[in-house]
Amino acid sequence: MNAFGSPRWVDFHCHLDLYQDHQRLVRECNAEKIVTLGVTTTPKAFARNIEVASGSSYVLTGLGLHPQLVSERSGELPLFEKLLPSTKYVGEVGLDAGPRFYASFQEQKRVFSRILRACDEQGGKILSIHSVRSVSKVIKELEENLTHENCVPVLHWFTGTPSEAARAIDLGCYFSINAEMISAGKNRSLLQTLPLERLLTETDGPFVSFMSRPARPTDVPTTVEMLAKLRGIDLSLLASQLVTNLLAIHSPNPAKRTKGKMRLFKSSPYT
Ligand code: MN
Repeated sequence: MNAFGSPRWVDFHCHLDLYQDHQRLVRECNAEKIVTLGVTTTPKAFARNIEVASGSSYVLTGLGLHPQLVSERSGELPLFEKLLPSTKYVGEVGLDAGPRFYASFQEQKRVFSRILRACDEQGGKILSIHSVRSVSKVIKELEENLTHENCVPVLHWFTGTPSEAARAIDLGCYFSINAEMISAGKNRSLLQTLPLERLLTETDGPFVSFMSRPARPTDVPTTVEMLAKLRGIDLSLLASQLVTNLLAIHSPNPAKRTKGKMRLFKSSPYT
């Protein structure tokens, strides 16, 4: 037994507060024992999310300031810093260098590095991080600002290159994988090589669709099934590895988190 009861599944990045039936989602997570990190996009949304999740031992709440909202909401950074000591979970935070958000990129970097430094000072934080078109910049920020090993960065919807993945792994990063990443053919080789002991699952609902409707935490078992198929391993083995990984990121002892290594392809000239 642990703080989550006895988890069966992990949804480590879901925007619970963007669903009409937020409370029903919390009940579903409890019933199915899905440890779900409800990320938020602004510090102002944090209190309400904490309140809705308050009766649940499976739903966690992240304090966030989404990079896509930094241009309008960077004024909430002091509120973020005020709330940070009250939570272990931080997200959604990160960088977005896509064309729609590039104008605020310098401001995003300033906000993200301040958030990372505050997390580093307080220690013991677990972060869910956005890195659209900015993986190497995100990694650089992590390298410069997360100097202690007692915070755990989780890269959500990671789409970097194998060498960026290797750098992230060296830094102790985990990766949360959603169904759309698995379906998109271009990610297959990366998803086959990431170390199993560094993987978590996520839905990124409601932004990701599942069977033509917004994905829900209860869809995670299907994601795990898809991932098990892709990795050629047994479903129940993968499900229990994911729960092991969830517990590992909560361990106060960084040594409990395995030093992962990229897995080489069978066809690789190096094997
Ligand atoms: Mn998201």
